[in-house]
Amino acid sequence: MKLPKTPLSRDDIFARLEACRAGDLPWRQGRSWGYVYDAGPATEEISKEAFMSFLSENALDPTVYPSLLRFENDLIAVAVDHLNAPEGAVGSFTSGGTESILLAIKTARDFARATRPAIKKPNMVIPTTAHAAFHKAADYFDVEAITVAVDPQTYKADPQAMRAAITEDTILMAASAPSYAHGVIDPIAELAAIAQEAELLFHVDACIGGWLLPYLRRLGKDIPDFDFAIPGVTSISMDYHKYAYAPKGASVVVYRDAELRRHQIFACARWTGYSVVNPTMQSSKSGGPLAAAWATLNAIGDEGYLAIARTMDEAARLIVEGVNAIDGLEVLGQPEMSLIGISSESLDIFAIIDAMNRRGWYVQAQLGFAGSKPNLHLSIAPSNAPKVSALLEDLAACVEEVRGVEPETLDPGMAAMLGGLDPSQLSPEMMRQMLAAVGIEGASLPERMAPINGLLNALSPELCEKLLAAFFNDLFRPTREAEPALA
Ligand SMILES: *Cc1c(COP(=O)(O)O)cnc(C)c1O
Repeated sequence: MKLPKTPLSRDDIFARLEACRAGDLPWRQGRSWGYVYDAGPATEEISKEAFMSFLSENALDPTVYPSLLRFENDLIAVAVDHLNAPEGAVGSFTSGGTESILLAIKTARDFARATRPAIKKPNMVIPTTAHAAFHKAADYFDVEAITVAVDPQTYKADPQAMRAAITEDTILMAASAPSYAHGVIDPIAELAAIAQEAELLFHVDACIGGWLLPYLRRLGKDIPDFDFAIPGVTSISMDYHKYAYAPKGASVVVYRDAELRRHQIFACARWTGYSVVNPTMQSSKSGGPLAAAWATLNAIGDEGYLAIARTMDEAARLIVEGVNAIDGLEVLGQPEMSLIGISSESLDIFAIIDAMNRRGWYVQAQLGFAGSKPNLHLSIAPSNAPKVSALLEDLAACVEEVRGVEPETLDPGMAAMLGGLDPSQLSPEMMRQMLAAVGIEGASLPERMAPINGLLNALSPELCEKLLAAFFNDLFRPTREAEPALA
């Protein structure tokens, strides 16, 4: 757009904003399985009002906004109780799971710098199922990620293999409770014992499960220990903006003690401006997410969360049973929570995802990696629960649609060419050609994503990453010529 010479009217501004929304994923109808975790309109209204009422306050300096300091200390108090943390545990409120994980790893790196200065090239040992945020941390902070294969049937981390991967330069081990892709809980107690024996820090990524799992346990489900009740666990990440239903921008990273968290905090007095002290990555930051998370927790309450957990658990159980009853589909592993990966031995799962899309569902595609087959992923939110039987009916119908159709396999010549490519030699022009070959020009994705997902799935992870980055580099281009969108 061009900046208007004179102010637009309020009506005009909102008309334009709404017009821009036209192509967005609708999430309120319960047909979208991912991205938005919300507890319904009543809670949403309270969360939004709280967000807006603290939108402009700046959490940069907690001494001038004691309200925000209070919200954060309250939210951490709830988290340490929820995660069975001992007296002396501390934490920080962050913008999301990724920031919480980044900080846990930055803290481990700086703790190692202080306590094990001989280590020049630190590494962390993680399972192949660990969230991408660990690799992002590796990339940002120069801590090598040593990834270890998981059990091929259960998709859970293999403690002995994790132990064997530890080197002299290992500073941290980590695992998930549960993993995003398969919804299975790694054997945290065994792994933590190994970490403790090797005198390593151990982070549990409970971003998606930390809040919900204790409720599932209270409902009688067999949920293994995953939190600070296990002595070797030194830090845990838990998102309030997942299954605590706070608006996005709400996560916590909790440490067993303040001595460890000290290494997370950045302070700077070596410039001419105000002294900067940042416990987390951001400096100036809105009070909105803090107030909204605080309001959401209070609006739902313990009994509310327990009731929602019951609904979620029932939905997950019905989906796993329903999917396993569909000839041609299988659930990967045995999900212990509301995250389900569905694959097919005989059919093109990406074509099934496209078919679901045409029927108005949004389900996520996950590429094959390290023994995990390409799959259709469902993250269940409360709004999805009433749609379970409709989902299963359409899934069965889509399987029949796809059954007769020859799967689109990569042209053998193309496959050979791709196999021989050196990712570091790939020019922007070659990448544009590859994207064009599967129907991507500029920002628009074709309706049929199966060929694209098939291509991405066939590429090495390195090449796939390059291609995806090139796509995003094209996607984010200033709309300098266009008029402001107006219906
Ligand atoms: C969602 C998630 C993350 C990352 O969280 P963001 O809030 O998207 O940054 C990390 N780990 C797991 C297991 C997750 O589900």
